[in-house]
Amino acid sequence: MNNTVNIPTGVFTLDGLTARNMGLSCPAAFSPAQHDPLLHQLLTPQHIATWQFEQLRRIVATARKHSSYYRHSLRKVEPDMLQARENLPLLPFTEPHALRNDPMSLLCTSQDEVARVVTLSTSGTSGNPKRLFFSQTDLDATVEFFTWGMQSVGNAGDTVMALLPDERPSSVGRLLATALENARMRPVSGILTHGGAALARQAYAEGVRVIVGSPAHVRHLAMAWLAAELPKDAIHTVLLCWDTVPETVAGLIRHAFGCRVLTHWGMTETGLGGALSCGDEGMHLREADLLAEIIDPQTGTPLPDGNEGELVITTLRRTAMPLIRYRTGDLATILPDACSCGSPLRRIRSGKGRIHGAKQLPSGELLYPADLDNILLPLPHLYDYTARWNPQLGAPLHISLWPDPQRPADSLMLEKQAASALAASPLLEPLAKAQGITLQIEGPVSQANFTKRRIFSSLHASTPPLNGDIDHEHAV
Ligand SMILES: [Zn+2]
Repeated sequence: MNNTVNIPTGVFTLDGLTARNMGLSCPAAFSPAQHDPLLHQLLTPQHIATWQFEQLRRIVATARKHSSYYRHSLRKVEPDMLQARENLPLLPFTEPHALRNDPMSLLCTSQDEVARVVTLSTSGTSGNPKRLFFSQTDLDATVEFFTWGMQSVGNAGDTVMALLPDERPSSVGRLLATALENARMRPVSGILTHGGAALARQAYAEGVRVIVGSPAHVRHLAMAWLAAELPKDAIHTVLLCWDTVPETVAGLIRHAFGCRVLTHWGMTETGLGGALSCGDEGMHLREADLLAEIIDPQTGTPLPDGNEGELVITTLRRTAMPLIRYRTGDLATILPDACSCGSPLRRIRSGKGRIHGAKQLPSGELLYPADLDNILLPLPHLYDYTARWNPQLGAPLHISLWPDPQRPADSLMLEKQAASALAASPLLEPLAKAQGITLQIEGPVSQANFTKRRIFSSLHASTPPLNGDIDHEHAV
């Protein structure tokens, strides 16, 4: 095992990739550079903004020409009207239901050029699932983003364990594995089926230096790593992705591995890759591919940088199915200041999750899944939990707790710890005092699954299954 921890040089490699995709000529645009004095002279925030609007005019012209949906929705918008940020409200929003109702109408290429279709169905959501189409060029752009981005996360020669779905061709795990091989790193697939302890032993035996996965999954691995007293100089970086990152979980992971924790934000609609942290606050946006805005979710009015609101994205280089002012439904803030790392790429800070994922407490305050994560996931005997909200019941919040299968005897202690943690939270204290929260210990669970956090709604207080909310991905 290595005794020294070498984290990458500090050069943020996505700057070079952005320069490359904008057609700039400097050494960093051809390979992730150690230091390229030309790069930040050429790649300035002003230059990026000018290029983004040239690209936006091109995308709008193409979409009007080739997609029946955009031909109608953009009928009043001439590309030349789009010169600067204040012109963006001229473009109507693309709402998620457009991807449910008639996704084919957004296609800008022939069906023969579609290399992958992703179907996103979330249980509990009415109507058709969302469908997204990607060409091979679109998939290649994602691999390129991962290839360059991962060189800010790990070093050539590192073994990287990814806890991501990788069964299907072009699934996120497969694309990342290709990217890691391009970056001369060794991908290892981490499967939690046999429990965190087995996976921790595997990671250590294989000399893993970097771990990529959702906060919930990496948390299992970190708890097992701590329990097995594995060394703190083996893993140098954990990259958390897929879901909102609760600070308590990031702290636990930092402590368990003695490593730095970076974060990535992305969604299928952004082509999986979206924004990557450099180690300082927030995540730098993939600006050659995404034009990001923050709007007031109630009125649709653009908000100045520094304000939290709904993140709206426009894809700038997507060929099969460009998304123009697409409402992501995610809460985020665009940070107003320049980053200490020197990157000119704007940064977003994720909010507590989905705008419609919150439940209104009797106090009037909103309860997000991330709030429950922050309260419950630090509990050492907890494997996972689900929450259900029903305001018609005397105790509207019902939480099912799954104990850590390696510590089944501690179920009662877990229930006590959870009750005190909930009662100690300023947000939930009034509800706990009013006996508005019920807890239930569930049977053992043997595997984690790929789900996003949500608080279920139901008229019944029955236990939602641990895998009750799955974003299905189907490849063709
Ligand atoms: Zn930075």
